Amino acid sequence: MITASELQEKLSTISIGSNTCNFSLETCERFVPLINKINQIKQEKNAIILAHSYVTPEILHGVADHVGDSFELAKAAQNTDCDTIIFAAVKFMAETAKILNPNKKVYIPSEINGCSLADSITAKEVLELKKQYPDHAFICYINTSAEVKALCDSCVTSSNVYKIIENYPNENIYFLPDQLMGKNVERYLKSIGSKKTFRYHSGTCYVHEEYDPDMIDFLKLKNPDAAIVSHPECKPSIIEKSTFVGSTSQMINYVKETNHKQYVMLTECGLTARLQMEAPTKQFIGSCTMCRYMKSNNLYQILSILENPNPELEIKLDDDTIGKAKHSLFEMFKYAS
Ligand code: SF4
Repeated sequence: MITASELQEKLSTISIGSNTCNFSLETCERFVPLINKINQIKQEKNAIILAHSYVTPEILHGVADHVGDSFELAKAAQNTDCDTIIFAAVKFMAETAKILNPNKKVYIPSEINGCSLADSITAKEVLELKKQYPDHAFICYINTSAEVKALCDSCVTSSNVYKIIENYPNENIYFLPDQLMGKNVERYLKSIGSKKTFRYHSGTCYVHEEYDPDMIDFLKLKNPDAAIVSHPECKPSIIEKSTFVGSTSQMINYVKETNHKQYVMLTECGLTARLQMEAPTKQFIGSCTMCRYMKSNNLYQILSILENPNPELEIKLDDDTIGKAKHSLFEMFKYAS
């Protein structure tokens, strides 16, 4: 059981300039009964909560059993012996947990569980592309629906995309759905002299697409020693100006392991909030952007799933899709190791 003042103390280092992530004692007093009830019921029902770093701090630090990026959470979903998984994130991530745990019940708390990347391509479009490029291996980012994964040869996450595409045993690759990540991989392949033919789809993450190189120039003018830490879903013009590029977990490790005067984190706000707690001596500057899908998960929805699950929020996939999508995920585990 946690008290409101203990929760406020825990979250007191978060100050990213948004009310969503600032915690008064009154706010904590509202959250604490929910947090304690969720933690009690999830034990009684042998349920676990997986949460992406982009969801709100009261979920991450109040009720989550595992916090991480897509790859880490996919691994956590693979290794659990619970009966129910509640996935506080977006739908494609909860589907990944279901693919790896077909006999468990998997729920997504929020009804607004889309993702601008995952929603940018359908299984029908992939089938058309496969007809157009029959000699290409189809590699999909994990930000895709289960049906799209089921049609692809291998999946990747932002922590292993460069390594898997470089080493994948096919000279012709079609990558989907992220065009900005595609452009960044293309630059990387050129830089190492790779002869692969590399094509990519046209989707974008609306959060990472927003960052602009002029904003970095402005921040660097005032803070010349600041490290620019960015995610591979950003534009190539941002990647060029970055001190470090990596998945959210790699970004966290970079900040913890280095000693720059300040850090500019070019990804969803939740990551900066997490780092303000986990690396309180580091200074963060600049703006960050919120993902409306990730931030739509809340404690009320999680409690409601535990007490009286809404069948519409349960992830349901047919056996054929699960089998084929699992192959794509297992190819990723194989090539990433
Ligand atoms: S941050 Fe971008 S990629 Fe991640 S869930 Fe939100 S829209 Fe999708």
